[in-house]
Amino acid sequence: MEKIKMTTPLVEMDGDEMTRILWQYIKDELLLPYIDLNTEYYDLGLEKRNETNDQVTIDSANATKKYGVAVKCATITPNAARVKEYNLKEMWKSPNGTIRAILDGTVFRAPIVVKGIEPCVKNWKKPITIARHAYGDVYKGTEMKIPGPGKVELVYTDEKGNETRELVHDFTGAGIVQGMHNINSSIESFARSCFNYALDTKQDLWFATKDTISKKYDHTFKDIFQEIFDKDYAPKFEEAGIEYFYTLIDDAVARVMKSQGGYIWACKNYDGDVMSDMISSAFGSLAMMTSVLVSPEGYYEYEAAHGTVQRHYYKHLAGEETSTNSVATIFAWTGALRKRGEMDSNPALMEFADKLEKATLSTIESGKMTKDLALITTLKDVTVLNSLDFIRAIRATLETM
Ligand code: NAP
Ligand code: MG
Repeated sequence: MEKIKMTTPLVEMDGDEMTRILWQYIKDELLLPYIDLNTEYYDLGLEKRNETNDQVTIDSANATKKYGVAVKCATITPNAARVKEYNLKEMWKSPNGTIRAILDGTVFRAPIVVKGIEPCVKNWKKPITIARHAYGDVYKGTEMKIPGPGKVELVYTDEKGNETRELVHDFTGAGIVQGMHNINSSIESFARSCFNYALDTKQDLWFATKDTISKKYDHTFKDIFQEIFDKDYAPKFEEAGIEYFYTLIDDAVARVMKSQGGYIWACKNYDGDVMSDMISSAFGSLAMMTSVLVSPEGYYEYEAAHGTVQRHYYKHLAGEETSTNSVATIFAWTGALRKRGEMDSNPALMEFADKLEKATLSTIESGKMTKDLALITTLKDVTVLNSLDFIRAIRATLETM
């Protein structure tokens, strides 16, 4: 069979530890035999980041702006232990943070739904995709402990020196106070990314805040979403047969629990932090969550939601067998290849991405899976495979399609 050609490169961001091992297996077994893989390769492994003073991360993000689509392997975010382990010059920042700052994107996290791995919430039949606004609010907050009686105020000083004041609280005893902010341009980018991704994936978009209580702060989020929707997206949504639905956050949570899934849930920063962990654990496994960063300009970066699976890597280094789940990393590749195909009008590439996803899911449905899934599956006859054999089993399924 002739290999599929790619006209434009895909930005490939390699990573660390066990996921770096899986990365190579996936390329060797599932991609290179079928595709003339055209990637611009960036090694985001921690050693290379250290060697280049993290320039490689910045370069990879800029390449994503140039080519439009990237696929990323999980990477180590250094902490004190890693600085020692890798003898680092500095505690380099999280590559995901750096990339997101350059692309100004929103992260969409979606579970991979497969028969045999049933969500805890029995009426959830389709994936629920969470979009988290990753700027501001309590994550960029300023806090104070108030030792005793006294007045706390919000003070805004404009460029001419005029002050506007609001009383927060007149304390009669000890207490606490918190100041937080957001900026309209960031909320606008968030809204556009969400509307674009909803159109892209033909799913309804839900958004919720607490605007009845927070009449200026949360209400601004609601208003900005509505203005952008009315101005730029309403007809496109109608044409695509999808809806934009706004409600209060508590109402949204209640509806999510009773829903069948199959929509995107846009969340403010804190809600997204909390709800994405709830959704991923309820759908089964962190190893079955994909993640895509979508910029308001329409650049896409695909990855698995999990980390580098350090514990498995040390077993691998010690020569022990591992059974690490590669599904989310495979879906990062298929997501990126399909998007590349869509942008380049390359239907063969898009079909291949669909096929590889089907092969992966039917391999699991036939009872062949990694240990993490075997522990939670409802299927009866299960074969637990090691990291490489699972990928080879997917290849065998792919060969029959
Ligand atoms: P992790 O790599 O996601 O792994 C945590 C645990 O979850 C694993 O020990 C394993 O449990 C299970 N697990 C996760 N993915 C799995 C998979 N594909 N197959 C089977 N089991 C899986 O999180 P971490 O150990 O907290 O972080 C390790 C490193 O990853 C850190 O250096 C962190 O900075 C980095 N990280 C990177 C990203 C990213 O690049 N997007 C995201 C998160 C973390 P068992 O050990 O019980 O089998
Ligand atoms: Mg969280």
